[in-house]
Amino acid sequence: MKERKGKNSGGSFGPDGNCICTKCNTKVPHQKGVKCTTVKCPNCGHTMVREELLNNKRK
Ligand SMILES: [Zn+2]
Repeated sequence: MKERKGKNSGGSFGPDGNCICTKCNTKVPHQKGVKCTTVKCPNCGHTMVREELLNNKRK
């Protein structure tokens, strides 16, 4: 196994980016220190995920 590059300060992604609702595709700016999975969609109340996570699924 190769060593992981970069420092891990609690999250897998950087401080920037969006959280996205998988249900209604609403995007909100990711808040520093707040996991997207703990954020509820303001539109439908569904749990949100990191936008990168969805993008990374397709490789
Ligand atoms: Zn939603």
